[in-house]
Order: sequence, then structure tokens, then C-alpha cells
Amino acid sequence: MAAVLFDIENTVHNNLQQSSTSKECNWTRRAKPNEKSCSLDNLKISKAEYGKTDKETLKPTAFDPRSTELDPVSFMDQLKAGLQQHASSAVILQILPQVPGEVTEQEVTEIVSNDKCLDHEEEVVAVEVNTISELRDAFLLSKGLDCSKTFDVTEEICHEFLSFIKIDQYQADMIFEKTKLQGNCDFWKEQRCGRITGSNFYKICHLKESTSPDNTLKDLLGYCPLPPERQPIQFAWGHEKEESAVDLYCKKLKKVHKEMHVVESGLIIDPEFSHLGSSPDRIRVCQCCGKRVVEVKSLYSKRSLMPHIAAVEYIYKENGTYRLKKETKWNYQIQGEMAFSKVTNADLVIYTNKGILIVEVLFDKYLWEEMLVKLNKFYSKHMIPAILTGRIKKLLS
Ligand SMILES: [Zn+2]
Repeated sequence: MAAVLFDIENTVHNNLQQSSTSKECNWTRRAKPNEKSCSLDNLKISKAEYGKTDKETLKPTAFDPRSTELDPVSFMDQLKAGLQQHASSAVILQILPQVPGEVTEQEVTEIVSNDKCLDHEEEVVAVEVNTISELRDAFLLSKGLDCSKTFDVTEEICHEFLSFIKIDQYQADMIFEKTKLQGNCDFWKEQRCGRITGSNFYKICHLKESTSPDNTLKDLLGYCPLPPERQPIQFAWGHEKEESAVDLYCKKLKKVHKEMHVVESGLIIDPEFSHLGSSPDRIRVCQCCGKRVVEVKSLYSKRSLMPHIAAVEYIYKENGTYRLKKETKWNYQIQGEMAFSKVTNADLVIYTNKGILIVEVLFDKYLWEEMLVKLNKFYSKHMIPAILTGRIKKLLS
């Protein structure tokens, strides 16, 4: 084709009478190679007029066929309108950007209120979480009781208060998530206050009838200064070391367990026992063993000893394996953590400056049942009267 055009140009240029298309088509063998061909750049198309100099013509290579007046927004509108009219099911219509102002408020309302547009329905439940002391105030009000006056906390009142402070699974989940995210926050302290928590289980289960419960109550009701393991030096040392102990623990186990994750925990409350609670240090999940709780322990005063020596009063060796002694504060705490988390295994990680020792602890159903009886009895006999009458608070003021 290009050759024909060149030929026409050549004919016109040389003022010949007939162009190649004006006569019958025939094949003429050229005597010598066509020297008249030129590159597009050198091609000049102009009217051949005698005695006039050639004008500068538009070079075909300098031509941009795209329109310079294209507005992308109006182009998109036109494209969409065209597609809508001729191919309304075109997939591209779903991904073309929406032009602002295209859908009216009314149309949006119609789309939102139309059930057919719903992919799935999700119910949003308002979850309200109160502290035990807020619940106490509401309870006293509902019973017409006044804590500034003395009154008998009967067995019936105790029973009613226990059901009054019951939380549901939504509330338990919310407390767990909130305490997990915020660490040792005020919310955590407020939620622990008025509940029996894991670190007190052993003490309460071993409280003698003749011993006054007041000191324990002060602690559980939040009137006590920091317990020894939370004192600044020990706590700071423990906190820093706990992190590295967990790192070491993960490193040791990662090779053996599939898809293992060790995550922070929050305050765990089993709705069935809303007056109790527990906060394991970590929760471990792996594909091979499922879920278990991890409790990390250290003894500040024995931090320079090997872990198995430092913790000698808590552990014993059986057939070459270290086991946690049943009658220890650590075991009572870990048993509670397993019960509330509904798992049957726990790892106790004991650490010192010399390293870590991992001791596996199994859930002891019988021990836990015994513990529950004692914890419930203590709560009804001592905690509820102290909470409702404010007796301990009055002692301190
Ligand atoms: Zn595993």
C-alpha cells in the first residue's frame, strides 16, 4: 500500500499525465531499484505548482491522533452511560469509580433499608460492664438497704447478691479483651476488686477458722498496699525478665510445635463463677496440642540460682521430670487459670538469671472441686458481708 502511495506521490510530483491507479493494472518490472522511495520523515505531500517553493508540511511522525480536549471525568460518564444503555451487565460497570453526587440521599436510604441488599446479618449487642462496687450500689438501692446503717447479711441476701453480680459470656469476653489490650490498667484493678483472684486462691483455701479474714479481705477489696511481688524493684525486675523468659520459652518450643503462637492474656472470668477471676501470663496455642495457659514465675531473692534450685520448695522430680507440688500457691493459681480457660494443660515457666525451666502442669479436677467449695464459702461468708456493709472500709477509716 505504501508503495502505491509513493508511486502516486511520485506521479503528481513529476506532473505525469496518469497515476498508477488511473490505468489498467499491470506488473512492470523496473530496470533498476526504486530510488524514489523515501522515509516518512522525508515524505512531502503538497500540490505540485510550477514556480512555487514547497511549503513546510505537517510531518506524519509529529501527528498525535489522541484528542487534546478529553476530560477524563466526562469521558468516564459517557462510557458508563453508554455501557449502561447497551451492556448493563458489563462487569466493568461494577468497578468504574463512582462520580460524587451521582447517588442521591434518597437512593442511599432505599439501598440501606432494602433487605435484598443484605449480604448477611450481624447483631450488635450493647455490652455494659460494671464493677462489683457499682453493682453493690445498685443492689443495695434495689433492696432498700443503707450501708451507713448496720443490717444482717442473711443467707438469702448473699444468694441474691451472687446472682446479681453474674455476668454473661459477652461481658466476660469484653473484660478479657480490654484487660488483654491495656495490661495492668485501672480497668483491670477495678474488675479484680471485689472478686477472688488466682494469686489468693491458696491463701483462702488454707485460711484457718480461727484466723481473722480481715487482712485477706483488705487485699481483695483493694484497700491493701501493693503485694510483695508487685513492689517496685521486684516488679520492674520481674517485668523485664518475664519478657525474656517468654522469648526463651518460645524459642525452645517453636522447633517442636506446629504453628505455635504465644499471646498475652487478660483477666479471665468464667460466667458460671462471676465472683472469681484469673489472669494467666500468656496463652499458648499450637496445631499439635491446642490451647494451654502459661504462667511465668520467678523468685527475686533467688535470681542468681539455677531455676530448679531456686524453686526447690515448689517442685519435685519424678522419673526424671520436674512436677509442680500440689500444695503450693503456684499450683492453686494455675489450677484456677486452667479451670476458667477450660483447658487441661499449663506450662509453668520458672526463670532466674541462669535461664528457664518449663514444668508441665495438668488440670486436677478433684483439687479444683475442693477449691471451689472453699472459695465459694469464703466469698459468701466473708466477702459479700464486707462488700455490702462496707465493714472493712469502716475499719480503715
Ligand atoms: Zn504443640
